[in-house]
Amino acid sequence: MGEAALVCGVCQAVYAIDIPIWRCNCGGLLNIIHEGLFDPKEIVASDVSLWRYRERLAIPETAIVTFGEGFTPLLPVSIGGREVLVKQEHLFQTGSYKDRGATTLISQAKALGVTRVVEDSSGNAGCAIAAYCAKAGISSDIYVPADTSPAKITQIIRYGAKIHAIPGSREDTAAAVMAAAQVDYYASHSWNPFFFEGTKTFSYEVWEQMNGHEPAAVVLPAGNGTILLGAYLGFQDLLASGLIRQMPRMIGVQASACNPLAQALNLNSDEPVAIAKQDTIAEGIAIAAPIRGKQIIEAVRKTGGFFISVSEQEIVESLDEMCRAGYYIEPTSAATIAGVKRIVQSNLVQGTIVSLFTGHGLKANDKMMKIHS
Ligand SMILES: *Cc1c(COP(=O)(O)O)cnc(C)c1O
Ligand SMILES: [Zn+2]
Repeated sequence: MGEAALVCGVCQAVYAIDIPIWRCNCGGLLNIIHEGLFDPKEIVASDVSLWRYRERLAIPETAIVTFGEGFTPLLPVSIGGREVLVKQEHLFQTGSYKDRGATTLISQAKALGVTRVVEDSSGNAGCAIAAYCAKAGISSDIYVPADTSPAKITQIIRYGAKIHAIPGSREDTAAAVMAAAQVDYYASHSWNPFFFEGTKTFSYEVWEQMNGHEPAAVVLPAGNGTILLGAYLGFQDLLASGLIRQMPRMIGVQASACNPLAQALNLNSDEPVAIAKQDTIAEGIAIAAPIRGKQIIEAVRKTGGFFISVSEQEIVESLDEMCRAGYYIEPTSAATIAGVKRIVQSNLVQGTIVSLFTGHGLKANDKMMKIHS
């Protein structure tokens, strides 16, 4: 690993990378800042996982917890009558892209000698943290909303994690975990900056798979923004090294039922707008108060991007179209594809569009059956 430090986004305090904290003493969000530049000569070409970029990941090599994840196929998929490059991120060990962040975060926890972690999630991040903890021999307590897809809850339990099913909203679950996070290591995919060390590899892979070029735009979900912010960091790294000519436009997709970021851009606000969230089948992006909302808005704005809000009907339509093309994805994943479809049909982007399938349909079979009948 190269040199890196933890830096507070609020008070700019700097901490050594090996201190087991998940937020600044002032309460601010921490980011990982690397010294030097991304150097393509340091890519370990013989490693076909995301750990090929280990020299650019702030994790000691002695403690890597891996299932050989990453380097998912980048396939052309016809969406709205146009070919879009779609990363097959539903093909990870636990069935969603969250494994990108879980492998780096739990590797760091292991390097720190952590024996127990807590995490809260709408489902998939909990699955990923539970699986990597199982592999690492770390015990995990996972907090989820009680109405999370039963398949995801079962998956978490099967990995040997202790589940805490919290009645009420996703926000109630986030509140419930906070007391535990004062005691145990908080393996949060929104707070903990080591998660983003993993998700940034999305962009490195896209760049390699496009033979050293960048797309015109990347269309990504915007719930807590864990893949969006990771992708932003990755492309920034490539830009700083002169490996791409310009930042791709970052376009975030939200469900109309829960779109605090889209509304912020409309109102020209730097912060997520307080909203009354409605029900959506896109359970994985129904985040009313994203912790890193300000960072997501900034990333989208700075790259000339925007947000798209998609209706429940558009989500179901895109789900149906993708399944009929042979891609069994979960409803939340279809929300992003519905955003891509709108962009294509309204011709909002010239040039190559990259997007992703975020999660596997088998994880939400109850919802898939309900939608079908
Ligand atoms: C986590 C997740 C998302 C959205 O990710 P955010 O980090 O909340 O923006 C989208 N789809 C699926 C299937 C997910 O698991
Ligand atoms: Zn601070």
